[in-house]
Amino acid sequence: MRKHIVAGNWKMNNDLSQTAALISDLKEQEKTSDAEVMIAPSFTNLWHTFESTREDDIEVVAQNMHFAENGAYTGEVSARMLKSIGIRTVILGHSERRAYYNETDESLAKKVDTALANEMRVIFCFGEELADRKAGNEESVVEGQIKNALFHLPADAFTNIVLAYEPVWAIGTGETASPGQAQDMHAFIRKTLENKYGHQVADDMTILYGGSVKPGNAKEIFGKPDVDGGLIGGAALNADDFYAIVNAF
Ligand code: PEP
Repeated sequence: MRKHIVAGNWKMNNDLSQTAALISDLKEQEKTSDAEVMIAPSFTNLWHTFESTREDDIEVVAQNMHFAENGAYTGEVSARMLKSIGIRTVILGHSERRAYYNETDESLAKKVDTALANEMRVIFCFGEELADRKAGNEESVVEGQIKNALFHLPADAFTNIVLAYEPVWAIGTGETASPGQAQDMHAFIRKTLENKYGHQVADDMTILYGGSVKPGNAKEIFGKPDVDGGLIGGAALNADDFYAIVNAF
């Protein structure tokens, strides 16, 4: 079922005391929209954040995980480890992971499979780079990312997937896709799903937009019919700004 979701990706920010301070600020916020709220702290802060928000209307999610179930992968974290501390959702394929840690469509397909096999929900990120858009290739790039990482899945797997379209040129740059650009791409993504899996899967899919969403632009972006929410980076580090975005629905 299609939902409104606003997810905050804290990236590699906040030590434990900063995390505790942000959580206490978040707890003072009032949610006036129907959006599901998620926050993604770093691995070291997941357990504390999960424990501290048990009573709150906030889901704590992971920023990444490995595709192997376990084994000799120094420095990595498995789906089972995440599940054992209560984490049920993982962000996969963020452009920073693709760019700095060589994550590819192929390795992401494996991560998606492992997450789903462990009954986790996936927020799957993808998006074109500036050069792709300048060359007019944004749709073919996005289509390729989705097909290569997800189109081996059966239709029912998509009930546990949320898509996050994040044009790389808009992440952390202050430059946002216009609401029209976001809507056009989200409609294209839905059409791509429909062509492969049919109308129902496409219509039920929650598709988030990410890229410099702020309190000042969230309402207009979320007002577009195929935009079901946002993946928020910088603005998620401030509780007032984050909830202004959550409440933009
Ligand atoms: C992100 O990293 O997913 C993101 C959208 O960041 P920002 O909101 O800072 O552009």
